[in-house]
Amino acid sequence: MIGLYAMKKYENSIEFAFDKFSNKVLDINDIKTQKEGFEIRKQYSENSIELYCCECHQKLTVSSSKKDNIHFKHKPNHSYCLLTDNSISCEDNKNNHKAVLIKESPRHKKLKNKIGNLLKVTKGVDVDSICIDNKFIERNGEKRKPDVFCEYNGKKLVFEIQLSQLSLSYILSRYDFYRKNGFYLIWILDNLDITKKNNLTRDIKYQNTNQNLFYLDENSDNQLRLICKYKKVWINKKNCFQEQWCDSSIFLDNLKFDNKSFQVFFYDYDQHKYDIEKQIKQFQIQQQRLLERKIKSIKMEIEDLKKKSESEFVFDKLKKLSEKIFQLNNNEIEELNKQLNLYHGYPKALNKWITMIKDNNTADFVQFILQCTKIELNINKLFDGKTVFQAVLLNDNICHKEKLIKELFKRNYSLTENDRKECLQYAKFCFDKKKEVLKYEVFDRLSEKRFMDDFYNYERLLHVIESAKKKEIVGFKYQSQKWLDFGNNIVINKYYHQYWQYIEYALKYYGAWNNILELDKKGTFKRYLQDVYNNMPIQNIEVVELLNDLYPELEL
Ligand SMILES: [Zn+2]
Repeated sequence: MIGLYAMKKYENSIEFAFDKFSNKVLDINDIKTQKEGFEIRKQYSENSIELYCCECHQKLTVSSSKKDNIHFKHKPNHSYCLLTDNSISCEDNKNNHKAVLIKESPRHKKLKNKIGNLLKVTKGVDVDSICIDNKFIERNGEKRKPDVFCEYNGKKLVFEIQLSQLSLSYILSRYDFYRKNGFYLIWILDNLDITKKNNLTRDIKYQNTNQNLFYLDENSDNQLRLICKYKKVWINKKNCFQEQWCDSSIFLDNLKFDNKSFQVFFYDYDQHKYDIEKQIKQFQIQQQRLLERKIKSIKMEIEDLKKKSESEFVFDKLKKLSEKIFQLNNNEIEELNKQLNLYHGYPKALNKWITMIKDNNTADFVQFILQCTKIELNINKLFDGKTVFQAVLLNDNICHKEKLIKELFKRNYSLTENDRKECLQYAKFCFDKKKEVLKYEVFDRLSEKRFMDDFYNYERLLHVIESAKKKEIVGFKYQSQKWLDFGNNIVINKYYHQYWQYIEYALKYYGAWNNILELDKKGTFKRYLQDVYNNMPIQNIEVVELLNDLYPELEL
């Protein structure tokens, strides 16, 4: 049997041939025995069969191989034929053979007859021009026999029915031939589901730039109707481009004919797509302009209130403006930050504004900027060599320094070594300067800044744990290494007992516990400790979240 492999072996051999006398197709794959093969050769030499190529309609010869297998061949110096094109891959060649052969199938015959008969009753069709599989179109030595041909309103129309997988080479070869010769080619597909992305529909779609696919509408009665499948495009509610496959039953009347590309289409996909994209673009430009205008007015409002804060009470207005900003969408926020440009363009602005605070109203403006977290700030930028933290500490016009400082930490401000020094200097009149610094160190270290307010509730407990961690007593009136006094104080004071488990665990973890025990020669601490154990109150668990944030190493 001669099949696919034979095509390579016998170059340019053809698997089937049309016999003019019997009106039948001889398929080499049907020839099973040497005897049958011999019979065909005999008939050929006796001229009782006359064989033609089903694709190019040129005469074919019968020849045989060494093993007496027969095959069909074009005559020497024949004109171009797709089936003998050596530039086409073996796979495509196989598909092209199939496509040519399937033209003889009953379904194919039924469809072309139906189309031909419907054309006879279709308005605009020249009835005398209709040919069903019996018209050769010959140009420059190339010959095609379209499935159906007709003249429609002075245009030459060709219908090619396709039931099988086609190669792009097949599609283009047909299209090029008809286009060059001024024929409009309409592919009629059958039972091909476009949702399954097979090559045929994809290739025909690309060849037809308007992505229109045609099928025979089998409900056609008084004239030819086709089902056109096409991608419909529109702008959706979100103003985005959208497309979806649709189908419509159409008459020839509904078709448009492009006399340059000789393509036929119902829905001008390219034009619609172009229009839609243009509309979307215009809409986007318009939206962008509106957005810029809206944001510009907000920017001006901010500038206006900043100016007003120098002479009047603006707190309520700032609050309203803040609400307005928090309602902006992401694009608007991005535009606002682009226009304000406080992060990259004017990173020192915040620091400068803090330095220039002269009363509560101007402080309110800075507070607003800090609390409006949608506004991007470069919080760690120096101005005149000072950090924003120092700017707050050093400005005596600021009455509520801690309020502003907490806002800085909420913005993830990082405390510097100079800040610590400045803080010690600033707190020189305080009873315990280190206590002040420690508060800000805690604020700095908290990963959840919302715990800052808890600091005041648990300040004494935090002093105990911080002292143990730092190995230096902070927040108590004892000298920094008086660990026994420190220990006795907390073991006697009932306030600490509700946290005792955490305290004892932390002191042991950081090593302070052993210090206390070693110093406790008289056993005072141990006696009080026994009392605590004997009367242990329920432990306060509300503080655990804060402690875990500050001392994750304890894993409480
Ligand atoms: Zn041929």
